Amino acid sequence: AAANIGVVGLAVMGSNLARNLASREGNTVAIFNRSYEKTQGVLDAHPEAGFIPAATYQEFADALQKPRTAIIMVKAGAGTDAVIDELVKVFEPGDIIVDGGNAYFPDTIRREKAVRATGINFVGAGISGGEEGALTGPSIMPGGSDESWVTLGPILRSIAAIAEGEPCVTHVGHDGAGHFVKMVHNGIEYADMQLIAEAYDLIRRGTGKNPAEIAEIFAEWNKGELESYLIEITAEVLRQVDASTGAPLVDVILDQAGAKGTGAWTVQTALSLGVPVSGIAEATFARSLSSHPEQRVVAGALPGPGEEFTVPADQVDAFIEDVRLALYASKIVAYSQGFDEIRAGAAEYGWNIELGAISKIWRGGCIIRAQFLNRIADAYAETPDLPVLMAASYFAEAIGRAQAAWRRVVVAAAQAGIPAPAFSSSLSYYDGIRADRLPAALVQGQRDFFGAHTYKRIDKPGTFHTQWSGDRTEIEAVDTH
Ligand code: NDP
Repeated sequence: AAANIGVVGLAVMGSNLARNLASREGNTVAIFNRSYEKTQGVLDAHPEAGFIPAATYQEFADALQKPRTAIIMVKAGAGTDAVIDELVKVFEPGDIIVDGGNAYFPDTIRREKAVRATGINFVGAGISGGEEGALTGPSIMPGGSDESWVTLGPILRSIAAIAEGEPCVTHVGHDGAGHFVKMVHNGIEYADMQLIAEAYDLIRRGTGKNPAEIAEIFAEWNKGELESYLIEITAEVLRQVDASTGAPLVDVILDQAGAKGTGAWTVQTALSLGVPVSGIAEATFARSLSSHPEQRVVAGALPGPGEEFTVPADQVDAFIEDVRLALYASKIVAYSQGFDEIRAGAAEYGWNIELGAISKIWRGGCIIRAQFLNRIADAYAETPDLPVLMAASYFAEAIGRAQAAWRRVVVAAAQAGIPAPAFSSSLSYYDGIRADRLPAALVQGQRDFFGAHTYKRIDKPGTFHTQWSGDRTEIEAVDTH
């Protein structure tokens, strides 16, 4: 056996990851794909990689040194299960199977348990960065056992992106922890993209600037505290001119956003954990809303505010700065909510996840890579068990600086009839979580009225119920919740 690592699944992600592995000192990579043509294709196209091809799972296992280590990069779901079933037949106790696909974390928990029973290690690893990241260095979020991390750690460190001298990979936690964190990463990505899209829409409709001009604004923003991959590519997209019509490309792209489901998973999971990730939820719903043309056609007849929204010429620069600040504040909320979900998931599933380490491995290789993540790392270094990320001194100061602008932008959007669901829900979350008192008291009263759900009082311990259908006196109740 000559290979120290193997890759199963040679579509775009797997073949690029295999090439990345092969390009690192000391690695010899065995490759396998269900249909052999792909294996042959990768072999022919990249003779420099020195791949060892396998035509069957048995040949693949025979090509690997022990403990065997294989990374699966196949279609998530049934494809992953099918490959695991085959690998388990030809691997031995102590070997390591890594699933690098976009698995739903409960599947990873299930698979880890089943594979562990055979003595083989199973590691669910979230890999972000798309095809380019896979080739040049992704951000990697592996779960799995401590034992497998001993062998796997150095291999993954060698292929990961490097940010400020550190590889963008850490052992996230056991079983499904890695895929959980990758899921939340994608949810934050949804929110970040939606916030940028809302900023673009407000500037475009408020100032009449064209996409190329707005591209320059984003390019400028990318030099400051908003510096990030998503801001950078937004400028590129806005600059692009359609070859066939000569129009800005963004104006000829159908305005219906697709989704592969990771945003929805993030929101569904947050709902069951009781974590308000409203920015991510609004971003996910905004994609859904856009993708219902049959409803949009009918609703197009509904009345709006009537007047055109035009920012006066002498206020355009100030408005753009307001939008920048609103974007930054809303982004802080989105990340704060995402980290809240990771904290809650770790508590629920018993994972020991270091939040500061997560923000560091997102600084390179992945879609949400940004300057800003250093500030998150600093916040958790200062207070590891920070209950609300945005309350950390740096972010509290930043929001303090931005909040007046943020409010003006949300007001302007509402008055102009421009949808800004992520901007406005982030602001509501901010105002909700910092509120001294919430109307939740009234909700508790209503719940007690119709369902005898009881309530607690601010002035004494115990659980109470008002006898609403009787004489409306209060009695001490048995705590049912
Ligand atoms: P696809 O998701 O398109 O999957 C195609 C690969 O899966 C092929 O190699 C195919 O083999 C194999 N496959 C499908 N079903 C089976 C099966 N039953 N048994 C064996 N092999 C099977 O490939 P991608 O490269 O786009 O993605 C791979 C994984 O990486 C996915 O889980 C994806 O979610 C994840 N991912 C993708 C990113 C991206 O940007 N594309 C980013 C991050 C993660 P065959 O050639 O024989 O059909």
